[in-house]
Order: sequence, then structure tokens, then C-alpha cells
Amino acid sequence: MKNLNIKNLKKTYGKGDSKVNALDGINLSIEPHKFTAIVGASGSGKSTLLHCMAGLDKPTSGNVYLDDIDIYTLNDTKLSEIRRREFGFIFQSFNLIPVIKVYDNIVMSVSLDGKKTDKKYIDELIDKLGLKAHKNKYPNQLSGGQQQRVAIARALANKPSVIFADEPTGNLDSKTTKEVMDILKLCVKEFKQTLVMITHNDEISKMADKVITISDGKIV
Ligand code: ADP
Ligand code: MG
Repeated sequence: MKNLNIKNLKKTYGKGDSKVNALDGINLSIEPHKFTAIVGASGSGKSTLLHCMAGLDKPTSGNVYLDDIDIYTLNDTKLSEIRRREFGFIFQSFNLIPVIKVYDNIVMSVSLDGKKTDKKYIDELIDKLGLKAHKNKYPNQLSGGQQQRVAIARALANKPSVIFADEPTGNLDSKTTKEVMDILKLCVKEFKQTLVMITHNDEISKMADKVITISDGKIV
């Protein structure tokens, strides 16, 4: 179990007249093994917050603690190790690699980490995500919902403590959205993972254990 704590996080883009305070002093504790939804108007700072929390974008000031580690005090090697081992990412665009098969897309980050693939766990994941029949296909042979499930399997392959998702169902129809959400809820309930998800969808934020609303870079 890993605790994620955000202290007085600020992120500024640009300079002078074009300066934007994308994050303006965010304090937040993400509850482990729970589903936290982040909502707010477009441009309010949700993606910036998620990227800063996930070690993908260095804040201008403030701290992101994973347990007692202030992640942005680490060097690049250590920070990317944390990203690979502790975090999983799911975006609106699936970002699958078109020239390699579904199975290889899923295990890619595990092999990048120089770890041996836990084949039993990966097979279980593929099974649960309904991808068994598609393992040896290429991403473009799959529907949007199937591709997003591959992206989810890839995010989970490393058994991350925290899954960060930025509007993962933004491009999906309502039936596929439900399937994807069922799987992500299973991650929280069964695999004991922490889920932090940005969403515009009221139906989805209703499923969350906690909803955080961002407005002009602040929690309201
Ligand atoms: P949201 O995800 O809630 O739509 P973002 O976090 O993407 O909001 O953006 C917050 C604010 O920061 C917006 O005003 C946006 O224009 C600005 N912003 C985001 N990324 C950049 C960037 N790379 N350069 C300049 N401004 C940015
Ligand atoms: Mg966004």
C-alpha cells in the first residue's frame, strides 16, 4: 500500500502577460485502495494536476510524496523507476504501438523494466479483460473499446500501486464505457489498487469513493 500526498502544489506556464497559474496551491491526500475522481471545467488544471502527481511533469513548486519519498527530489533514473514500478497510466488516446502485437504491447513496460514477465498474472489479466482471443492481433484489428482494454492491461501489467487515468472513456460509447469502468472498479476492489481518474461524465464520478473538483487550479 502506498500513500500519495500532495503539498501546496503550484504549476505556472509561460511568462509575463501570457502567464497561467495552472495549479495554484493544491493540497491533497489520495486514499489508497479507493477510487478518486477529479472533475472540473475544461482548462481548470485537471490534467496538469494528474501529470504532476504521476511524476510526468515537474511542478513549479510544492511536493508530491509517495509514502515518505518526495518524488521530484529524485534524479531522472529513480523517478522513471517509480513511474514504471508504482504507477500505471491510461489516457484518452490509447497510445498503443501499431507494429507490435497486443500481447507485446501489454508486457512492454514489464520487459523495459528488465523484470521477468509474470506470465500467470498477465494471462489472468488478459482473461479478465476479455482479450484472450485478441492476444496475437495487431491493435488496428481491434475496436476502440478493445484497444482501450489493451491499454488498461498494459497499465496494470506491472501491478502498479496507483492507476492514473485522464478521461479514459472520453472516446468510447456508453456500452464500452461501462465495460471499461467495470474493469477499473475491479482493479480497486479485487487487485487493491488506487485509482485516480479525471472525468467529465457524471455517471462515472458517481461511482467514485471521493470526488475532487478543480476550478482555476484550486480545489473547491
Ligand atoms: P484541464 O485538464 O482541466 O482541461 P489543463 O491542466 O490541461 O486543464 O490546463 C490548465 C491550464 O494550463 C489551461 O489554462 C491550459 O491552457 C494551461 N496549460 C496546460 N498545459 C500547458 C502548456 N504545456 N503550456 C502552456 N499552458 C498550458
Ligand atoms: Mg485535461
